[in-house]
Amino acid sequence: MTDRPRGRHARPDTHIDAAPLRQADPSAGDATASERANSDGRETGSASSGARVSQKPTPIAAYTTFRVGGPAASTVVATTRDQLVDAVRNTWRAHDEPLLIGGGSNSLVSDDGFDGTLIRVATSGIERITADVPKGTVRLRVEAGESWDGLVAHAVENGWAGIEALSGIPGSCGAAPIQNIGAYGQELESVLIAVDLLDRRTLEVTRVPADELGLGYRTSTLKRHSGDEPERDAVVLGIEIDLHDNGGLSEPIAYAQLAFSLGVDLGERLAVSQVRKTVLALRASKGMVWDASDPDTWSAGSFFTNPVVAESFARTLPERAPRWPVDSDDDAVTVIPLDEFTGEIKRPAPREAQVKLSAAWLIENAGVHRGFQLPGSHAAISSKHTLALTNRGGASADEIAELARYVQSRVQSEFGVILQPEPVLVGVEI
Ligand SMILES: Cc1cc2nc3c(=O)[nH]c(=O)nc-3n(C[C@H](O)[C@H](O)[C@H](O)COP(=O)(O)OP(=O)(O)OC[C@H]3O[C@@H](n4cnc5c(N)ncnc54)[C@H](O)[C@@H]3O)c2cc1C
Repeated sequence: MTDRPRGRHARPDTHIDAAPLRQADPSAGDATASERANSDGRETGSASSGARVSQKPTPIAAYTTFRVGGPAASTVVATTRDQLVDAVRNTWRAHDEPLLIGGGSNSLVSDDGFDGTLIRVATSGIERITADVPKGTVRLRVEAGESWDGLVAHAVENGWAGIEALSGIPGSCGAAPIQNIGAYGQELESVLIAVDLLDRRTLEVTRVPADELGLGYRTSTLKRHSGDEPERDAVVLGIEIDLHDNGGLSEPIAYAQLAFSLGVDLGERLAVSQVRKTVLALRASKGMVWDASDPDTWSAGSFFTNPVVAESFARTLPERAPRWPVDSDDDAVTVIPLDEFTGEIKRPAPREAQVKLSAAWLIENAGVHRGFQLPGSHAAISSKHTLALTNRGGASADEIAELARYVQSRVQSEFGVILQPEPVLVGVEI
């Protein structure tokens, strides 16, 4: 564990709270117990943006699906885009560090808390754009604080295809591009057109096309990998996606386990509602639908990404270790700065083929099984899924990090692969 993570200049404990929110599910970006406790007005005041202010310190654990995280020095809950922009700009101008939290379902925050401003993204609004949209395309503009799964449900109810396999992923729409969420053969990247970004460098809001975000496997230029500075420091205010009106039919099924459960071949289409129902059932059986009453879901979903390694390295692993080819970036463009251009364009060196390994297989075969718990710890591997590290009740961020390091070291000593954490780490070292 490191020192208490700080904003650039820590401020005294202040809680700025906005109007009560809609539901009570942190993973969906809704009001938490502590927000409701603060909504009686006893300890609240008003910020210039219209938000209410409370002096009551809020444990970040109340905002995360891991249910861990110490207090934030101050907290702002932004329910409108203007409040969000004001809160972020004010924090940056004060040379303070904001900690953005949507549903808190991909954040592991230190027990020491965060010595800066926690900004809870609780904005809402889904708008359909009809001007200049091709026939058969449904373009939606969605505010960052909308629940991702609420958006999927809305699309499926209307028979629109493109995100049905992403049913049941907790969290907010604004965080969805941060790691280019994906599951069951679909990724956000395939529907994302653009995002509205508030940029730290310029303090301006701009519409940025999706292909400028460096979206890849559980990554983007916006992500703070293991808590590092992101390539592009910016806040997502809203996203724009293109869905398809296929007369109620889904996109072609692209994931073998899903095709099997649906009883169809890969590439077939089914009613979007049927795909959603099956995905939700599959996810629930693995503890991958957040449920306040089920500790198997008090997690950040998969804790480790599937490692991508050179094919030659993969050949050193047991033959039965699952692996999938990774698309090489054959169209990559080499940019030569003008002052370095000699007139000669060298052929790029051929890149070795890469393969993706199964992190779950590596963990299981390193001898760490479902339900595993270090002695005396309140953190455990989920009893339903090897890849999920969970809080069994009363776990600290330290205990979760300790379990993660244990899993990492077992896999490294057995297979020579260092697993990388998927959630964003705030003041936590693994
Ligand atoms: C049970 C469970 C299952 C899961 N299954 C999947 C899955 O199948 N696929 C998958 O990809 N993920 C999965 N996840 C991870 C998680 O749900 C997603 O990554 C989700 O997009 C996180 O959204 P959030 O709002 O909860 O993010 P948060 O945890 O609130 O934030 C994550 C990161 O994004 C930043 N952030 C949040 N909002 C903004 C914003 N508006 N602008 C800029 N930065 C922002 C935060 O500061 C933080 O760094 C799962 C998690 C759980 C608990």
